[in-house]
Amino acid sequence: MGKDDCIFCKIANGEIPSATVYEDSICRVILDVNPANKGHALIIPKEHYDDIYSMDADTASKIFTIATEVAKAQKAELNPDGLNIIQNNGAAAGQTVFHFHMHLIPRYQSAKNNDILMWSHENFSDEEMAQIRDSLSQN
Ligand code: AMP
Ligand code: ZN
Repeated sequence: MGKDDCIFCKIANGEIPSATVYEDSICRVILDVNPANKGHALIIPKEHYDDIYSMDADTASKIFTIATEVAKAQKAELNPDGLNIIQNNGAAAGQTVFHFHMHLIPRYQSAKNNDILMWSHENFSDEEMAQIRDSLSQN
């Protein structure tokens, strides 16, 4: 089952052992082997999707429902000061494993590693903003 030579297919379907914290018919939730912080978890669907663009809305909604449960467990058990949910698509966005996965990264004010998700800001003219809005709008 799964796409040949995809490590997350093998992990999600139990062919490679992982630090599993939750499993159902749709997905497996594991601890990231190289965590950004204590409790860094990954939600990995059992079906292979390269990225968000190939995922159907029903699977996406089930994954986000699981994310709410994992987030609550992390909050209750690890008492973080915050939590980031990150999902990378494409190498330019930092994706390194090309099987869809969602990161849930608890954040601690005391952590050394606190430069996760820092970006500077770009400026666009009002005209450019209007063009972008129109291009993405459903209307
Ligand atoms: P991304 O950069 O969004 O593709 O994230 C890939 C994540 O998968 C990284 O945070 C890795 O540490 C993690 N990872 C890679 N291989 C494994 C593995 N065998 N078990 C658990 N996590 C892994
Ligand atoms: Zn896969």
